Amino acid sequence: MRDLSTERKIRLLSKLASFEREREPDLESCIYEAKSGKGKVPLLKVLQATYCEKNCDYCVFRRDREKTPRIYVEPEDLARGFYELYRKGKVRGLFLSSGIFLSPEITMEKMIETVSILRKKYGYEGYVHLKVMPGASLQTVEEAVKLSDRVSVNVEAPTENHLRSIARGKSLKEDIIPKIREISKLVERFPGKDQTTQVMVGAGKDTDRELLKLAEFLYRRLGVKRVYYSPFRPVKGTPMENLPPCPKEREVRLYQADYLIRECGFSAEELLGSEDFLRLDKDPKEAWADRNPHLFPVEINRADYELLIRIPGIGKRTAREIIKRRLRSAIRKPEDLKGIRNLNKILRYVTLMGRYYGHAGEDR
Ligand code: SF4
Repeated sequence: MRDLSTERKIRLLSKLASFEREREPDLESCIYEAKSGKGKVPLLKVLQATYCEKNCDYCVFRRDREKTPRIYVEPEDLARGFYELYRKGKVRGLFLSSGIFLSPEITMEKMIETVSILRKKYGYEGYVHLKVMPGASLQTVEEAVKLSDRVSVNVEAPTENHLRSIARGKSLKEDIIPKIREISKLVERFPGKDQTTQVMVGAGKDTDRELLKLAEFLYRRLGVKRVYYSPFRPVKGTPMENLPPCPKEREVRLYQADYLIRECGFSAEELLGSEDFLRLDKDPKEAWADRNPHLFPVEINRADYELLIRIPGIGKRTAREIIKRRLRSAIRKPEDLKGIRNLNKILRYVTLMGRYYGHAGEDR
């Protein structure tokens, strides 16, 4: 791949970063819209290199996969290529990852050099998300945190046994969780930075219980900002090529449950009951309410914010709106909730001044 121009290399690295196609795309099709608190932001997701010394069974970059194009871009070239796009207004941020070449430390040093050139030589002050290699030294990770807005270490699998079965040489207990813990302390020292992670779903025998328990631990104990669920897709030429892909519905339910854990105070245990998997036919909050009929209906005029956001159909914005309305006057009839989303659903779980309006079949 030495004969490729830098621009073509970056194009290919960007497309490979999304683990999708191997044919050469145009660079703009590599830009993806990341959701942020301030709306969507076009990011260039790109790899420093597609070489990897590891051999994870699911991965397109695994060492033994012969078909994968092996490319490396020098920090100076990558920084310049990205900055060109930024200058033209095509991207507003960079998400830089890499296969592990030579060693985790050397890989991270090259990634840091890329961002360093961007910051210092080009004066780029925009968003950078840097993937951290678990084996990198504390000093190098600190440098990564200082230079970027967000860092992440991939968890990959929810349990040690599962991870070891699909990614020999990786360990949650020995490498990944200690690294996340180190980063949490660093992130606390540098306001405005945060840490996220990614876990694969459906690559083997992982259960929703394991995944959500892990997410709960990462949120509550290690201050991780977000857990992203990456649905398993089999890659040809890997040992897992014949496994089925993770169904989309499972990913959707996991994100819903994750939100309830992160934002609404639910525990994984509450959302799953005695099951190992979330129901696919019902959203997790409704499924929880179905298992706990003794908690309903809730009197909407008395429930505090924390209780309101546990009611199916009521999210944070609706809870705030309900509290605002009832401060003006008590909510006595469904018309007092006019304009509230999911009203029919909400009425199945609440009373209005002691009266129940949630009889099945009533349309509003
Ligand atoms: S270490 Fe990362 S890039 Fe390398 S094979 Fe494993 S998952 Fe793929």
